[in-house]
Amino acid sequence: MGERDAFLLDRPLKAAVIGVGYLGRFHAQKYAQMDGVELVGVADLVPARARQVGKELGVSVFGDFSELLSLVDLVSVVTPSATHFSVAKACLLAGVHVLVEKPMTILLEEADVLVALAGQQQRILQVGHIKRFHPAVMRLERSGLLDRPRYIESQRWAPFKNRALDVDVVLDLMIHDVDLILHFVGSPVVDVDAMGTKVVTDHIDIASARLRFQNGCIAQVSASRMARESTRRMRIFQPNALIEIDFMQSFLRIVQRGSGEMVLDGIPVPAIEETRLPIERHDALEVEIQAFCQAVRGNTPPVVSGQDGRDALAVVTMIRQGIAAFLEHTV
Ligand code: NAD
Repeated sequence: MGERDAFLLDRPLKAAVIGVGYLGRFHAQKYAQMDGVELVGVADLVPARARQVGKELGVSVFGDFSELLSLVDLVSVVTPSATHFSVAKACLLAGVHVLVEKPMTILLEEADVLVALAGQQQRILQVGHIKRFHPAVMRLERSGLLDRPRYIESQRWAPFKNRALDVDVVLDLMIHDVDLILHFVGSPVVDVDAMGTKVVTDHIDIASARLRFQNGCIAQVSASRMARESTRRMRIFQPNALIEIDFMQSFLRIVQRGSGEMVLDGIPVPAIEETRLPIERHDALEVEIQAFCQAVRGNTPPVVSGQDGRDALAVVTMIRQGIAAFLEHTV
């Protein structure tokens, strides 16, 4: 522990948010409301944006984030994805704990540097894979029902929006499901077959990939930002159950073999038991930020570590390379 850490247990954690656009403003609101945390300030390259959020929450405003690093214990980095590496690196070098939004970086080598730096500096590096904190996902984990998934399919389809158009749909949306699936399967990806195409932007707008894991599990993931309506769903097939997670309706449906038989059209068939687990709704961003603060305070590993973010990025990089090869060979 460094000098700055000696006080962590008996004073509020000092926090700041770097980048207060669409999502960063919500990060700042959560810190401002949280017990045991003092939001010291917000930073944004666009002065009007920083002023607006600073005024809303009654905190100091910075144009250059490097000016606030000596004042805080931790930061959220919520700047555009291409800047995550340089901003998060500067924060870690200054001895500040970092919650960096997803994707943690664009390049795998950059993610490696951040993971190593967090280790050297003994600082928490958490990555904003917020779906780990989705009420249905947390409920599934608590249920203990997840048991050796053999096949997983996920769909994350969104209508077109004027956001995150600086990256492709794989880095922006598919990475959420890749992180979850890696977490659920707990085995490395050994093979990727991917396809995708640009539709309206200069980047891939729809994509589909088949992932094969070392333990034999297969996952089929698809993501689109060209959908008419939002669909965010995952189905997990395992030897004893089918588990369905609907991220939008926030429900968990479990289908399992029941005891005995039931009769369908006059014919006896194995009984099927369908359960909808009750989901207590919560604010996933608030729970994510609370978990980050707990990791900082307790000096414990974060729920979504830098290594987890790096692993998701590695698979996403394979998918993006697969799509590039697919496009090259498609006439
Ligand atoms: P945004 O463009 O609305 O906001 C980014 C802000 O960062 C802007 O205000 C910009 O001026 C500021 N900025 C840029 N460079 C800066 C710098 N060097 N210092 C300070 N401020 C700087 O973007 P957004 O939609 O809020 O997305 C931000 C990040 O959050 C992206 O990486 C995105 O992938 C991620 N995100 C994650 C989720 C999620 O579900 N976890 C959802 C939305 C966005």
